[in-house]
Amino acid sequence: MPAKNMDDLVSLCKRRGFIYQSSEIYGGLQGIYDFGPLGVELKNNLKNSWWESMVYENDNIEGLDASILTNPQVLKYSGHEDTFTDPMVDCKSCNLRFRVDQVPKECKKEDLTEPRQFNLMFKTNVGPVDDGNNFAYLRPETAQQIFTNFKNVIDSSSRALPFGIAQIGKAFRNEITPRNFIFRVREFEQMELEYFVVPGKDEEAHDLWVQKRLEWWDKQGVPTENIEIYNVPKEELAHYSKKTIDLMYKFPHGLEELEGIANRTDFDLGSHSKQQDEININSSVKANKHSNSKMAVQNESGGWFVPYVIEPSAGVERGFLAILNEAYSIEKLDDGKDRLVLNLKPHLAPVKAAVIPLKKNNKKLVDLAKDIKNDLQKLRLGRIIFENTGNIGKSYRKHDEIGTPICITVDFDSLDNKTVTLRNRDTMKQERIHKDQLLEYLKNLVNK
Ligand code: ATP
Repeated sequence: MPAKNMDDLVSLCKRRGFIYQSSEIYGGLQGIYDFGPLGVELKNNLKNSWWESMVYENDNIEGLDASILTNPQVLKYSGHEDTFTDPMVDCKSCNLRFRVDQVPKECKKEDLTEPRQFNLMFKTNVGPVDDGNNFAYLRPETAQQIFTNFKNVIDSSSRALPFGIAQIGKAFRNEITPRNFIFRVREFEQMELEYFVVPGKDEEAHDLWVQKRLEWWDKQGVPTENIEIYNVPKEELAHYSKKTIDLMYKFPHGLEELEGIANRTDFDLGSHSKQQDEININSSVKANKHSNSKMAVQNESGGWFVPYVIEPSAGVERGFLAILNEAYSIEKLDDGKDRLVLNLKPHLAPVKAAVIPLKKNNKKLVDLAKDIKNDLQKLRLGRIIFENTGNIGKSYRKHDEIGTPICITVDFDSLDNKTVTLRNRDTMKQERIHKDQLLEYLKNLVNK
């Protein structure tokens, strides 16, 4: 059963060290969060899982890590300078600003100003002269620098269509009303694939990626039956999109977008290209006077065309929240007490195993537990914790709450026969196994 409400998740995240408010000791910064010791592990595991499913499991997808600071020309020709805006209103009664579709019920209609457009991009000064002309944008999406590197990647990797470029990284949006914990924030990470295809093959590729993405979310613990597919109606489509499918998830605060999968046609490459009249662009694009690259490929008879692109774009924070919400569960135990357990998929769990000596001041038990921890750590499956509290029950409760799939207890029998107690997070069952079998056991569990 998912969490009852957002407060449950916020409180678990703070208490156990997944997520903290940023700059908290100075009162915080609105819409900005920090990931703590467990949060960074879960987040990295999620990103690695995406990267593996894109770059390693496909033979036609390359990775990229482009810069955050972006030349303004990129965001001029992409359309962001003109259109990356949200309508904003002021409430004259509470003196706060809201996105038009997010005005709280308490604000009366007559207190609201006429909506005006607000650009969501952050700017920063570049170099020592601050005269207003030497600035860069913090990218509002990772996608644009994939497009600007299209020629670099295709030339250096000798790729032919269809092929993709995948990137994970920070994006920044000056959201008018950041809210709902890490759902809508001003600094976040995106996992984006731009998949380039021959025009005419775009619809088929779009359907395929919707399917692949649903399967991937399912493997992360967000089942397909809990995702609603929203075919964005024409009047709501972004200017570049021929069709967009949003994967909507029931977050604790309501049904909202987890990932968007858009058919961006040839708009982006066409917009960033030089010699636009020679390459048969279908979309309507701004005349480009600055690009020095022809963002097109040649067909067999030598004619130029601009690939279409399918873009699955997922937010890391929204994925994190959905996964946490699905994994969160309160169970009633036989003794009437509640057990809070995070049923995270083992590959995502921030800690893969905890090794606990029965007594914290017994050198032999401690040494054996440390040896086991070090052996398991060498598997490079993720973090293994040596848990020297001397309180087994308390350690089990803590590891249930942070989603550690197994706890390994080292006791006096372990010194004689090298067996340990393996306690399973989900079933709470305990079994005795030889310490040498642990490596195989953990490998199978995490790679399942
Ligand atoms: P929304 O309509 O919720 O503002 P969007 O349609 O503007 O989202 P996209 O531009 O499609 O979002 O971005 C792709 C993905 O990036 C989204 O599906 C979401 O997971 C993530 N994302 C976008 N904006 C934010 C934000 N402010 N905070 C956290 N994640 C975000």
